[in-house]
Amino acid sequence: MEEKINSLKNELDEVFLSFIKDKNEVKSLFDLDLLESKYLGKKSFIAQTLKNINDFPQQIKPLVGKTVNETRKKIEDDIKLLRDDFTKVEYDKKLREEKFDLTLPGRTLTYGSKNIISQVIEEIQEIFIGLGYEIAEGPEVETDYYNFEALNHPPDHPARSLHDTFFISENILLRTHTSPVQIRYMEKHKLPVYIIAPGKVYRKDYDVTHTPMFTQIEGLAVDKNINFGNLKWTLETLAHSVFGKDRKVRFRPHYFPFTEPSAEVDVSCNICGGDGCRVCSGTGWLEILGAGMVDPNLYKFVNYDPETVNGFAFGMGVERIAMLKYGIDDLRLFFENDIRFLKQF
Ligand SMILES: [Zn+2]
Repeated sequence: MEEKINSLKNELDEVFLSFIKDKNEVKSLFDLDLLESKYLGKKSFIAQTLKNINDFPQQIKPLVGKTVNETRKKIEDDIKLLRDDFTKVEYDKKLREEKFDLTLPGRTLTYGSKNIISQVIEEIQEIFIGLGYEIAEGPEVETDYYNFEALNHPPDHPARSLHDTFFISENILLRTHTSPVQIRYMEKHKLPVYIIAPGKVYRKDYDVTHTPMFTQIEGLAVDKNINFGNLKWTLETLAHSVFGKDRKVRFRPHYFPFTEPSAEVDVSCNICGGDGCRVCSGTGWLEILGAGMVDPNLYKFVNYDPETVNGFAFGMGVERIAMLKYGIDDLRLFFENDIRFLKQF
């Protein structure tokens, strides 16, 4: 009996010596986990001895258990001390690594920049909100009725041709202008109407001055006793706000399907001051928008009385306004969203 216990004690001493030797090699928490598994895990001598304790004679079993558990306790205590040490060391190391060095140069945050089209839309909206206008919006996918028919476009009008319009089906299309918003708004509202309708429009065109999608802002004022003088004052106010008070504004007679009379509006060229240069094609003027008195025919579509109401409408390409305002010569730059371009404004 005593022999068996002594033999077990010897084996446990060997195990503990081996443990001490291995313990000195431990360099990390990971090594420590391996060490623990080796000496206390399921396959360890200690665990196996306890598991097979029934192999010992009944009367020495308590002594066997006590002897094995003494060694187990020593190993457990050592491992716990070591674990505390390593945990602290690794925590300190982590803290050191994560410590802020306030003398290091900061990392620059790169901010986005609002697209210049949005900036120009907001600027123009602000001007008109100041004049008492409302912002109105409508669908980009439109019916032929709202895009053309209700806006006085006869069936043979060039703007109706397949060349310009993206048709989705025979009667459904991508709006070619924001004018349908005017019809939709008048259908639902009584006088007076003072609205600004900004939005994306679509036409089949692509070169330095045309993109298949571009942005328009249209305005509509319908009330009693509105005349061409009101239109002129409104657009001069717009031109001076956007381009500067020193710019001259002129109206040239023009044709649009849903206004009569119609005009194109120019501002004096800021590059040459009106003498004529490459930018203004030698004319001294830059075209900024189209406008006119609403054709009384349109009022029939929205159940207004053409005898008692009148109004004006105007429309401009936002990209064109931005190009003229900031001297940008390629329309496509607006849509690439290159941060180097956007940051200039
Ligand atoms: Zn010029």
